[in-house]
Amino acid sequence: MEDAPFFLFLQSEWVRPIPCFLTATGMDTLTDPQLGTISFVRRARARRIVVRIQADGLRVTLPPLVPAAEGLRFVREHEDEIARKQDRVRSSRQAGLLLPGDAPALHTRTFDVRVAVEARANLFFRMQGDTLYIYVPGTADLASPALQRKLWDGVAYFLRQEAHRVLPPRLHELATAHGFGYRGVKIQSSRTRWGSCSARGDINLSYHLMLVPPHLADYVMLHELCHTREMNHSPRFWQLMDSVTGGRAKALRTELKAYAQALPAP
Ligand SMILES: [Zn+2]
Repeated sequence: MEDAPFFLFLQSEWVRPIPCFLTATGMDTLTDPQLGTISFVRRARARRIVVRIQADGLRVTLPPLVPAAEGLRFVREHEDEIARKQDRVRSSRQAGLLLPGDAPALHTRTFDVRVAVEARANLFFRMQGDTLYIYVPGTADLASPALQRKLWDGVAYFLRQEAHRVLPPRLHELATAHGFGYRGVKIQSSRTRWGSCSARGDINLSYHLMLVPPHLADYVMLHELCHTREMNHSPRFWQLMDSVTGGRAKALRTELKAYAQALPAP
């Protein structure tokens, strides 16, 4: 799969000094039905016109004195190639690849993930505020499965940490509100099983619950709490579920199933 973003370069001699209509720091944008939003940015040190694919369109970097019209002409000349690359970038996002871009690579319940390419030797993760920054060496192939595995392992570490912080107190809150008792709670990593409850009242919750909206994580926790009284999925179990979800148990189950299918994590 293709690396993203990608770059197109012009020959230097193609760049001619012509009066421009952009200011030194100014940015012009236009919307193209095929390519999305095209933003033109002027950079004092740019030597060539550079086209970069972003989540919502294109960013065109212009050298000093090169008008945006020249940049647009360059984009038009390469339109087919750009559209093909955009397709590849889109499908890699759907495949759950963590890639650089204007938009965060991933939203979780408590933090966003942003990927940045840097001149550095090693992969580096840093949680700052509510954003997890992943710095990737410029030499790395972002599309390689081995690298993506490492990125996801890093994200999983923080997801698990956040799950430990957020889910047990919420489970306790829900149990108290609805009069349930349980023995203990553990966080586990299953991607196919959101939660489970043993006959002795030990509840397991997957850290992947940090990737679904809070009301659906609540649904899973209530589901496991109901199993402390009904160790089955009988009509009595669903009646109990309805009594703690305002009659929405089956609707919430359907909503969660849709989320499970679209879950980005590999
Ligand atoms: Zn169940």
